Amino acid sequence: MVDLHTQYEHIKADIDRGIQEVIDSTAFVKGPKVNEFREHLESYTGAKHVIPVGNGTDALQIALMALGLRPGDEVITPTFTFIATAEVVALLGLTPVVVDVDWDTMNISTEAIERAITPKTKAIVPVHLFGQCADMEAIMRIARKHNLYVVEDACQAIGAVYTFSDGSKQQAGTIGNIGCTSFFPSKNLGCYGDGGAIFTNDDDLAAKMQAIANHGMVVRYHHDMIGVNSRLDSIQAAILDAKLPHLDEYIANRQRAAAYYDNAFSGNPHIIVPGRNTHSTHVYHQYTLRIINADRNRLKELLAEKNIPAMIYYPVPLHLQKAYNDPRYKQGDFPVAERLADCVLSLPMHTELDNEQLAYITSSVLDCINRL
Ligand SMILES: *Cc1c(COP(=O)(O)O)cnc(C)c1O
Repeated sequence: MVDLHTQYEHIKADIDRGIQEVIDSTAFVKGPKVNEFREHLESYTGAKHVIPVGNGTDALQIALMALGLRPGDEVITPTFTFIATAEVVALLGLTPVVVDVDWDTMNISTEAIERAITPKTKAIVPVHLFGQCADMEAIMRIARKHNLYVVEDACQAIGAVYTFSDGSKQQAGTIGNIGCTSFFPSKNLGCYGDGGAIFTNDDDLAAKMQAIANHGMVVRYHHDMIGVNSRLDSIQAAILDAKLPHLDEYIANRQRAAAYYDNAFSGNPHIIVPGRNTHSTHVYHQYTLRIINADRNRLKELLAEKNIPAMIYYPVPLHLQKAYNDPRYKQGDFPVAERLADCVLSLPMHTELDNEQLAYITSSVLDCINRL
């Protein structure tokens, strides 16, 4: 699905130098590299504050901890996403309220958000799924109207740009009160282990989240709130700092591969290519087809026989996960998400795909579809 080794070979000298510098300095935790990367990421994203943390899940948890929510408060999130989004809501004793998504973009449905709001609703956590922003202008309008916080799960969408109706632009993760991202190796900006970051333009929230990520500590050994231990280690920061200058080029490579796929598949009666909205660029963390009137699982097997990996992100919506078994929800409640879970198939998507590979993948997919 990804080719991290070839990517590394292109930037080996910079990566190796960065890692060696950290080892030579022995500033493994909270070293100067973390600060340098933080500053570079602030200027790349335009976020006033970037807080590097241990991973994307921690980023989401710290964000929600900073909002001062109380047990039983409701947090609205899409049912078609990676589990981390709802997991942290549940772990904090908050109540996840899941809603359906749009068939075309696979992102959270803004109409569904409005319908799910109750007097207990305190926050919305939209997920910019697969690398395309949810409809943030509409979400921010709903949030203002009902006095709700917005925490963007931008773990798959770093570098995606959202254009508002007045023409102004903001990056994924910098629009809501707080944005979260992940540097998991296969993410669009990936390190060589775990990493994550939080974005905010709010000085008070930034100070609070900084403290929460560091045991709730503001003055050394004085703990003002209950916190966690979550930090980006210096070696990962050095790797990310070497990769950040290439992020736009990486995004362009993904977009080029996606255009190749789109072109090869559009018009096929069994394949629907990823739907685009008009207000966001797509950074294609995943390139996800919908396979209709054909056996998606058999297609995946046939592709595997041709050594083409394909993955199902995600096979089970949150409301049907065993751990989140909840009498409020049952099969059939979120028909779009359930239909997507049955028909999505993600193809290899990374920065190193060349035309030869793309030609092999696309002709194999078309060939396998015909054999179904
Ligand atoms: C990857 C991901 C996360 C979690 O990130 P980790 O760094 O693996 O903890 C959360 N939400 C979404 C949508 C993700 O894709």
